[in-house]
Amino acid sequence: RAKKLGRARFEVFDKSLHLEVLSRLELEYDLRLAMEQQQILPFYQPIVDLRTGKITGFEALARWKHPVRGMVPPAEFIPIAEETGLINDISRHILQCACRDVVTWQQAFPHTPPLSMSVNLSTIQFLEGDLVPLIRETLDSSGLEAQRLKLEITESLLMEELDVVRLVLSELRGMNIPLLLDDFGTGYSSLSYLHRFPLNVVKIDASFVRNLHLGQENLEIVRAIKMLAMALNMEVIAEGIESEIQMETLKDMGCEFGQGFFFAKPLPREEIPRLLEQQVDGKTSEQNG
Ligand code: C2E
Ligand code: MG
Ligand code: MG
Ligand code: MG
Repeated sequence: RAKKLGRARFEVFDKSLHLEVLSRLELEYDLRLAMEQQQILPFYQPIVDLRTGKITGFEALARWKHPVRGMVPPAEFIPIAEETGLINDISRHILQCACRDVVTWQQAFPHTPPLSMSVNLSTIQFLEGDLVPLIRETLDSSGLEAQRLKLEITESLLMEELDVVRLVLSELRGMNIPLLLDDFGTGYSSLSYLHRFPLNVVKIDASFVRNLHLGQENLEIVRAIKMLAMALNMEVIAEGIESEIQMETLKDMGCEFGQGFFFAKPLPREEIPRLLEQQVDGKTSEQNG
């Protein structure tokens, strides 16, 4: 009897594994077509100056409008893109759209303070890509100033401790492009990365922001990150702000910038001019969802 049960369980497991593999293969196949059919596009989430409540820039976040599956989140397709090498094409596309779009918005709203655009980079792009020429070309063709393009990297990239990573980062800094450390405080988190690499901004991970109200510990972590950043002359962006109390707490601790559903979700490009328009009128950006 035990044998029978064990076997049944095995079959169930086997079947779901089979489905998983199948669905993954399908995704991989679809992803190749998706680029050609322009199903991959950036959404944009505002980054707000907590001191003024105004939008200072955006983060470009990749979306896949799949004809059958609907909106596929990046967590599901970026890893496949990285494994298949498609990430280079996807990144180029997102980067080019993002730079072009922010220049267009700036021209449409010339009185808005200079807007910046953050773009996420994959480790793969440092290892095998032609990242520096790509960035240079994209800045040239879009006309975006180097200081306005911000590149987001993660600690896992720095952990590799590779000469090529160090070289590319310092080349990018040499071009005057700000470098942001994304998801800070998650994973392997070593504070030493902050001064061993030419980084300009720390993005405090949403997990600390989410639990800010739950007790002293997260508060102290955020405070420590902020103090360290200040000592190293770096700015801080808090990610995942979902409530007014979180926003106020972070602002009181001296965090300069924030991003999160409290201000706005990532939005399609068509919706950004409306947000910028509201700012011109002196209204705040605290709405929508
Ligand atoms: P990330 O760079 O840390 O981006 C922030 C993520 O937090 C986004 O998820 C955003 O939608 C989400 N978020 C923002 N505010 C809130 C909030 O208040 N509450 C909650 N619950 N979530 C919030 P998304 O768009 O699903 O992206 C996930 C990750 O996928 C990104 O994390 C980034 O690591 C990666 N990614 C996205 N686009 C690209 C891309 O173009 N290239 C690469 N290499 N990675 C990308
Ligand atoms: Mg990011
Ligand atoms: Mg992040
Ligand atoms: Mg993340």
